Amino acid sequence: MKTINVKIPGASYPIMIGADILSGFVSFFQKRVNARQIAIISNNHIFKLYGKELKKILSEQYQVVELLVPDGEKTKSNDYLQQLYTGLLENRFERKSCIIALGGGVIGDLAGYAAATYLRGINLVQMPTSLLAQVDSSIGGKVGINHPLGKNLIGAFKQPAFVYSDVSFLKTLAVEEVRCGMGEVIKYAFIGDLNLFEYLEEFLDKALAGELDTLLNLVQVSARQKAQVVEQDEKEGGLRMILNFGHTFGHALEAEYGYQKLKHGEAVILGMKCALEYSTLTKKITSADYTRGMDLLNRVHIDYDKSKIDPDKLLERMYIDKKVADKNIRLVLINKIGNCKIEKEADPLVIKKAFEILI
Ligand code: NAD
Ligand code: MG
Repeated sequence: MKTINVKIPGASYPIMIGADILSGFVSFFQKRVNARQIAIISNNHIFKLYGKELKKILSEQYQVVELLVPDGEKTKSNDYLQQLYTGLLENRFERKSCIIALGGGVIGDLAGYAAATYLRGINLVQMPTSLLAQVDSSIGGKVGINHPLGKNLIGAFKQPAFVYSDVSFLKTLAVEEVRCGMGEVIKYAFIGDLNLFEYLEEFLDKALAGELDTLLNLVQVSARQKAQVVEQDEKEGGLRMILNFGHTFGHALEAEYGYQKLKHGEAVILGMKCALEYSTLTKKITSADYTRGMDLLNRVHIDYDKSKIDPDKLLERMYIDKKVADKNIRLVLINKIGNCKIEKEADPLVIKKAFEILI
């Protein structure tokens, strides 16, 4: 088991990463969290796969209940949040009790927000089960729900007591979900880690096929990268923006396609292609780096209907994206592989051109 420490003033915590580490959970929990009552928040599918065993090993020493919600993004809503509060109240959960978020990013965000707000905040443990959650959403403390007017608009910063990432959970993850998480892994390589990029050039296919040893390496390296960025910018004041590489283009594509048809990670991969096009068009990277970057991205197969893309509409969407400061579109771009830079006033015509090239 490997430990990555996230050093945040007053709220530091470890990320534990390994394969088949569920049996070590209770002794670790005991050392880190002072609680009697535990709520495992999950969905039916994941609870059946891993939650039952977790409940069994915890029940010897703790009062444990499971609070289950349906699968899917729609669960990250006020209705299900209220349902969780009701479950916690009916079970007489106190300030010192603990929520374990067992699931992908949806569960992590929803259960994390419940932990941030129930009785003004109780203990939280993140137990991510999807690749995306292990490399991204379980780290950094952003939790929240969606509002009918937009995604992730209601939320808080809630750092967990610890994150416990068992990569053997990934063996039951669908291939398209592995692909989604991989979008974020590739992003870390582009923005700050040439070694990771080289590793991906060699092992991407194995990782996409779900090989656990490869995924274990990728989760460790990615978690360290995310932790480093978060340490320097806990509340998203500046640096954390680099994690948006590929995302400004990606959000527009995701929205334009309707979130069902194009998943977030897939949109991020297409978005990174657009960002590479932008860098080339504005002569910010060498043609060798451009080709190398595109070659890697092209190895992740994404099935989408290109005839639906209208560059004008996509540009319009980029202007509505909440990350647009003032009137300008800000972009995270790479100037070489493993190195990024923020473009404060992106050129809308070049953005449109990048979308046109994607089609
Ligand atoms: P998800 O939570 O919906 O999980 C994807 C699917 O995989 C679901 O059907 C889930 O039930 C299933 N699943 C998860 N683990 C499994 C396992 N081990 N075996 C079998 N099936 C499994 O989606 P996600 O991609 O994990 O997360 C996306 C969410 O994360 C979005 O809501 C997004 O806004 C959020 N997010 C948050 C942050 C943050 O910093 N808080 C960062 C990125 C994304
Ligand atoms: Mg993302």
